[in-house]
Amino acid sequence: MKNTTRMNVFEALAFTFLCLLFGALGAYLSERWGLLGWLAAAPGVVGLSLLVFRMCRGLLCELKHSFHSRPVCRTGKCSSRRYFLLDATKELAVFRCLCGDRYISRGNSFLHVKADGTEEPYMVRDASGAWAPA
Ligand SMILES: [Zn+2]
Repeated sequence: MKNTTRMNVFEALAFTFLCLLFGALGAYLSERWGLLGWLAAAPGVVGLSLLVFRMCRGLLCELKHSFHSRPVCRTGKCSSRRYFLLDATKELAVFRCLCGDRYISRGNSFLHVKADGTEEPYMVRDASGAWAPA
């Protein structure tokens, strides 16, 4: 929970910084073309800030999940590094191991996604960071 809050503060700062950055660009344009420059820049300022912000946030999420270790897959063939990240949000990450199985990493639990899409608990990480069967 603490982690999420810190992330939000960081994100807010990053977003403010981006708005200021592109805002400065708008101010520069308005000096050259007056009000027209501002009108042209304003949607761009908001749009660009949002776009860059989302990209950075996605990247941060992926990095965060990449640093977390993963347990050996169900068949015992794939180690932590042999997973591909398919999707990542703040709360969870979806991985596929080399065998083709899909897994969801959420908090300290690692879930196996069955062929019909249902999730079943596979492994849980304890306080020391070691994985144990769920
Ligand atoms: Zn595997």
